[in-house]
Amino acid sequence: MTLDRRQWLKGLGGGLLGAGSGAWTTRRAAADAAVRPKEDPAAAGSLRLADFRPRSMLHVARTQVARARYPVIDVHSHLGWTARSEKGVAFGEDVTLLITPADALAVMDRKNVQAMVNLTGGTGRGLERSIAAFDRAAPGRFFTCTEPSYGRFLEPNYPQIQADAIEAAGRAGAKGLKILKTLGLYLREGLTRGPLVKVDDRRFDPMWEACAAADMPVWIHVSDPEAFFLPIDAENERYDELGKHPDWSFHGGDFPNHRELMEARDRLFARHPKTRFLALHVGHDAENLGFVGESLDRFPHVSVELGARIGELGRQPRAARRFFDKYQDRILFGTDAVPPPDGDNYPQQVFKDELYEIYFRFLETADEYFDYAPAPVPPQGRWCIYGLDLPDQVLRKVYHDNAARLLGLES
Ligand SMILES: [Zn+2]
Repeated sequence: MTLDRRQWLKGLGGGLLGAGSGAWTTRRAAADAAVRPKEDPAAAGSLRLADFRPRSMLHVARTQVARARYPVIDVHSHLGWTARSEKGVAFGEDVTLLITPADALAVMDRKNVQAMVNLTGGTGRGLERSIAAFDRAAPGRFFTCTEPSYGRFLEPNYPQIQADAIEAAGRAGAKGLKILKTLGLYLREGLTRGPLVKVDDRRFDPMWEACAAADMPVWIHVSDPEAFFLPIDAENERYDELGKHPDWSFHGGDFPNHRELMEARDRLFARHPKTRFLALHVGHDAENLGFVGESLDRFPHVSVELGARIGELGRQPRAARRFFDKYQDRILFGTDAVPPPDGDNYPQQVFKDELYEIYFRFLETADEYFDYAPAPVPPQGRWCIYGLDLPDQVLRKVYHDNAARLLGLES
C-alpha cells in the first residue's frame, strides 16, 4: 500500500469527519502512523539534504551595518581575469574585465569602501589595460596586482624573464604580485601535464627577490580549506560546496596534502625574509588559528587577510577575537569579491552591498548566529557565525591602516 502526501492528508480529513465511528478512526490513525515516516517527505530520513533549509528560531539582534564605521580598503578582489586558461594555468596577456569602475564605485561609495585592490590584473599588455581601466580612471580608489607569466615557464631563461617582468610591471604601476593556488596545485613541469611544480620551487626565487627589490608585496594563496583535501563523503563539512564545485576537490590523484603545501610555503617564507607576503584567506588555514598564529610569530614579513573565510572565523568567535586582539597589526580586510554574474556562482564572494554588510556586521557587532553569505543556503558549509564586536582601535587597523601600510599609502 502506498499513499502520497495528498492522499495521506485526505485520509486524515476523512478520519476527522468520521470521528463518530471510533474503531475506524483508530485503525485509520494506526495505518497513517505506519505510513507517514515513509511517505511524508518532511518525515525524518526522507528529506534530501539539498532541500533542507532550516530557519533559525532564535530571537536575537539583527543589526544592519549599511556602512563601515571607518573607511575600508578591500585588499582582495577580482575585477578582471586573464581571458585564457587551461587546467588552472593562465596563458597569454588578454584580460576580461568584469565590471566598470563606475559600477564598482557605486557599491564602494554606499559601503564606505575607500579603495579596492584588483589582484588578477594580468601581465604585459593585459596588465596595462587593467591599470588604465581602474587605477587611472579613479586614482586612489583602485590598485592592481600583476601575476606570473606561467605561459613562459618552459622557456630556458624563465627565472630571469619572470624577474624582469616583475620589474616592468612595477614600472607600469602594479602595486604587487598575486599568486593564485596555481603554484602548488595546477602548474606542472609541462605546464598542464607532468609532475606538479612545488610552491618553493627554486626557479621562482628571482621572482620573489624582484618583488622585494621593487617593494612590491606578494598576495599569496596556497592550498585551500582543509576539507578540500578529504574524501567528498558524509563526514566532509563542505559536502554541499564540493558537490557544487567538484573541481575544487584536491583529494587523491597526485595532489600534495594540506600539510605538505604549508611546509613548502614555510620554506618559501623562510628563504625570502625581505619580501613582504600577504597570506590570503587567513594565512591559508582559517580552521587552525593556532597554526596561523605560529606562522605570524615565525615570519615577521607575513600578514594575513580575511577573504571568504568569515565562515570559519565566525564559528569560532572567541578564538577569532583573541586572534584579532593579538595580531591586530597584521590582519587586513578583504572579501575575495567577484562582480556578478560570475560572482553569483560563489555567494560568499559576490561583489554587492549585502556582502559588505555581512562582513561589517561580523567585525563590528556582537550579533549572534547569522548567515556568512547572501544566499538561501550557506554555500561553504551549513553553519552560521557570530560577530566579533571589535574595539574601534582594532577595527581601524583591520579596515584601513594595515592595508595602507602594505600599499605604501601612508601620508
Ligand atoms: Zn581571490
